[in-house]
Parts: sequence; structure tokens; C-alpha cells
Amino acid sequence: MLKIDNLHVRIGDKEILKGLSLELQPGQVHAIMGPNGAGKSTLGNIIAGREGYEITEGSVTFMGHDLLALEPEERAALGVFLAFQYPVEIPGVNNTYFLRTALNAQRKARGEEELDSMQFLKRVREKLAVLHLKDELLHRAVNEGFSGGEKKRNEIFQLALLEPKLAILDETDSGLDIDALRTVAEGVNALRSPDRLFLVITHYQRLLDYIKPDVVHVLADGRIVESGGPELALELEAHGYEWIKDRISPEE
Ligand code: ADP
Ligand code: MG
Ligand code: MG
Repeated sequence: MLKIDNLHVRIGDKEILKGLSLELQPGQVHAIMGPNGAGKSTLGNIIAGREGYEITEGSVTFMGHDLLALEPEERAALGVFLAFQYPVEIPGVNNTYFLRTALNAQRKARGEEELDSMQFLKRVREKLAVLHLKDELLHRAVNEGFSGGEKKRNEIFQLALLEPKLAILDETDSGLDIDALRTVAEGVNALRSPDRLFLVITHYQRLLDYIKPDVVHVLADGRIVESGGPELALELEAHGYEWIKDRISPEE
């Protein structure tokens, strides 16, 4: 479903991703772990199509499409969703209105009919039920005055509504309390499906106590240096990232 081959990315004259390769199948939850500054967020941003990076080598193929040749909106239309580390607040803009606009933009880009208010509300109710959420956040302005946990709930709700094929969650964890972590984890668990791929980017093992990833990858020094089962996350928790350093091949 997602194939990343020998990806090299720089910001200015600094090379951040240095030949990263990964091949991921739908129906699975993959965790990307790694030390601070390893390039985890860069990877998520590159897949989603955020600006500011220079791709010097390599390819990213998603469901047969050359992802790097597409605009961010085209990627979203294909079903790529990136939840941001720091959700933006949009004061004065009603959250329901915002979500409906986002969903209809995606449908339009796919050549699908836009949903009218009734159809949209039906979809909203379905998703609230799946996630066991109340509708209280929908009546407020987008993320305005939301607590960390509420922002996470809103983000997961947005994810549910957009029904992505590839959902990338970039979690710093820092600042997230246990309730917020649970919200994210329960959301991911409820939204797992055979045709959906989750890429959960996280610095800490804590989140993975709640989400059971199928595969854990360690990103260090711009490459995937290790992949394994959930036990790899526990090893990292126990030994930190120091022990992984000897696995990083020296610069050529
Ligand atoms: P991670 O998410 O693993 O902590 P990032 O992908 O955010 O790592 O960053 C990788 C490296 O790129 C870091 O050394 C960081 O300082 C650098 N970096 C990230 N964004 C920028 C930027 N806009 N300008 C310059 N350097 C950046
Ligand atoms: Mg960081
Ligand atoms: Mg990061």
C-alpha cells in the first residue's frame, strides 16, 4: 500500500532523511519510534506533502500513485490524513462547519457528491457512536480553548469522519495526559480496518501500552535501523535509544 524507497530529504543544507525505506500493508498499525530530531515528523510531513523540504532522492508510492508528484489536496483525496502535533485554533469558525467543509472538499476532489446537512449529521452521529464521543465539541469554534485532551478527541473525530486509507498520527506525547493518550489509542483501535493503514509516530513507549502496534520501526539518523514486533517498543523503553546507536551504520 505504501512503499518508501531510498528517501533522501534535506532542509537547507542539512540532510535529515538519509535513504529511508519502508513497505507497509493495509490493515496494520505501524509505530515509528526514534530519538528526538531523528526525522520522524519530517517523514510524516513528506508523506502528507507539507512544504519546506527538498527531496533529493528516492520515491514514495501510495496505492500505485507517485505520491511526491501530487499536491497535498490530491493526496488527501486519495485518503492520506496527517494529524498535526499542534492543532491550529480557528477562532470564530464553528467546528461542525469546518469539518463539513473539509469532508466535502475531499469528496469533491474525488468526484463524489457533496453531503447536505442531513447526510452530514447522519455521518457525524455514526462516527460519534463508533468513538463513544458526545457532540459537545462540535458546537464550539475549531480548537479554540480546547484542552489537550479535547484537541485529541477532535483530531480523532476528524480522522473518523474523513475515513482515510492512510492515517498518520504524529504524537510528541509530551504534554499529553493519560486521558488524552487513551483517547488517541481508543480512537485508533476503534478505527482499525482491513483497508486502512495507521502510521503512529511517537517518541515514547507509553502510547503503545494502549495501541498495540503490529510492527515497530526505529528511525535513527535518517533511516529505519530496526523493525520488529511490539516487544521492540518495550526494549526501547528499557534501554533508551543509546543502545540503538551502534546499529547506525557509519557515514559513507
Ligand atoms: P523528530 O520528529 O524525529 O524529532 P524532525 O523531523 O522534527 O525530528 O526533525 C529532524 C531534524 O530536522 C532535526 O534536527 C530538526 O532540528 C531539523 N529540522 C526540522 N524542521 C526544521 C526546519 N524547519 N528548519 C531547519 N531544521 C529543521
Ligand atoms: Mg521533535
Ligand atoms: Mg517530531
